[in-house]
Amino acid sequence: MAISYSTRDIRWLVGASTLIPFVVLAFRAMDVVTSPKGGRDALTGLPSRAALLDIVDRYFATPGASTRTAACLVIDIDEFHSFNERWGRDAGDEVLRQTAQRLRSAVREDDMVVRLDADAYALFLAPSQGMTLDSILSIGDRIQRALSEPVVVHGTTAYVSASVGIALASKSPEPTAASLLVAAERAMVEARSHGAGALRLFSSEMQTEIRASHELAEDVAKALENGEIVAWFQPQVSTETGQVTGFEALARWEHPTRGTVSPAEFLPAIEATGRTERLSEVMLYQGLKALVAWERGGFAIPNIGVNFAGMELRNPHLIDKVKWELDRFGLTADRLAVEILESVISQTEDDIILRNISALGELGCGIDLDDFGTGHASISSIKQFRINRIKIDRSFVTHVDKDGEQQRMVAAILTMAQQLGLDALAEGVETIGEHSLLGQLGCHHVQGYGIARPMPFEDTFAWLESHNAKLAPPPRIERQQGH
Ligand code: C2E
Ligand code: CA
Ligand code: CA
Repeated sequence: MAISYSTRDIRWLVGASTLIPFVVLAFRAMDVVTSPKGGRDALTGLPSRAALLDIVDRYFATPGASTRTAACLVIDIDEFHSFNERWGRDAGDEVLRQTAQRLRSAVREDDMVVRLDADAYALFLAPSQGMTLDSILSIGDRIQRALSEPVVVHGTTAYVSASVGIALASKSPEPTAASLLVAAERAMVEARSHGAGALRLFSSEMQTEIRASHELAEDVAKALENGEIVAWFQPQVSTETGQVTGFEALARWEHPTRGTVSPAEFLPAIEATGRTERLSEVMLYQGLKALVAWERGGFAIPNIGVNFAGMELRNPHLIDKVKWELDRFGLTADRLAVEILESVISQTEDDIILRNISALGELGCGIDLDDFGTGHASISSIKQFRINRIKIDRSFVTHVDKDGEQQRMVAAILTMAQQLGLDALAEGVETIGEHSLLGQLGCHHVQGYGIARPMPFEDTFAWLESHNAKLAPPPRIERQQGH
């Protein structure tokens, strides 16, 4: 059988052979400690993040460090969560162990491999004068190939792939370990966004993005405090009566110069700076306040939907806060529908989150399972959390009136909901055709651009006025007598 080498293999072989003597000499000179700081990870036996930070900081502190090339790689197993779900936790652990071994044997003894978190590893390539960009890229390639070899779990063969981000120490935004690691992580995120098994090198454009995102984070923190983040409202209507059954509160940033900024742009900054809790506080307050204002204006809106992300559900005082807010407005708990992503329910093992969701249900709040159909929640968890409504994700709703496959999916979801005694709302309803078919299929509520786009609070009154006018029975025309 002929052995063939790809150009990548050859590039690797050439690169590696030139780098060996330098690597050994250079790293020995750094006085590498044998017992790593931060202890070892129990599952894989690898050192931890702290050990890597320690070594890299020492590298930066060594006089003349810049004359020797060093690099940090972050390796993230693609869709590890799905793997775990499909094959079970033991199999997942086995993959993590084997990944650790494969990484260890893919690099030299002087290189440091650590486990960063659940399914991510980092590698610090020992500094060397002879190491080139090519040789570093080859190492990345080699690691990906090593990890894509089949893994045998419970006698079956499974496959995983990994996304790899690489940052050269010379390109680190700051000469610190933390900064280099962030850079490699950023490159990994970029790789992952290009699909499974990709590899990316940290670039100066990514550096600009990091700086911009820091600025954004600062701005958004201020915006949350000075009232620039506001709730916009999107109505939900009954497919039977056409009546408004609720509104969903959706966050908008009313930026002084940029105009209205959508959550896709600023939510990541809010999450990254740990301010989701503050956001939900602001949204809850504005949502409940709107409910009271509508009532005063003569509109009986049954409930308001507020989005709670995974992070704010971790707050041990969440229930007290929600109770307090409801009391402040004199509202009963059933007027609030807490929207929780299906993925949060299916993925979380965090006790506080689980207890908070149950407690919100016990308090009497509605629990809406958001983006239903995208997150694999089990039927037992739906029961356990007293979910009372599912929000069918837009991806199932689009063209439901024209596409048989979509129709079958939605019909199946609705049958399941009915059997479990759950209410259902379809999201992202854009056309009259979708709206009426969903009604025929037995979906009780709809929300989407076809009914109305999210709007500022001030506009809701005029919208309600005109919507209700359309619902009102046509004025009776008296039959004329005589003639
Ligand atoms: P979501 O909770 O699934 O909200 C529905 C999104 O779909 C909204 O986007 C809404 O404007 C959009 N939408 C509604 N109808 C249609 C339609 O007919 N067609 C299309 N194409 N889109 C439609 P938006 O407001 O940009 O929000 C995006 C996501 O940001 C939300 O998705 C939610 O996950 C998150 N989000 C928004 N506000 C908050 C908040 O206050 N807290 C948290 N934690 N997340 C929020
Ligand atoms: Ca939602
Ligand atoms: Ca949704």
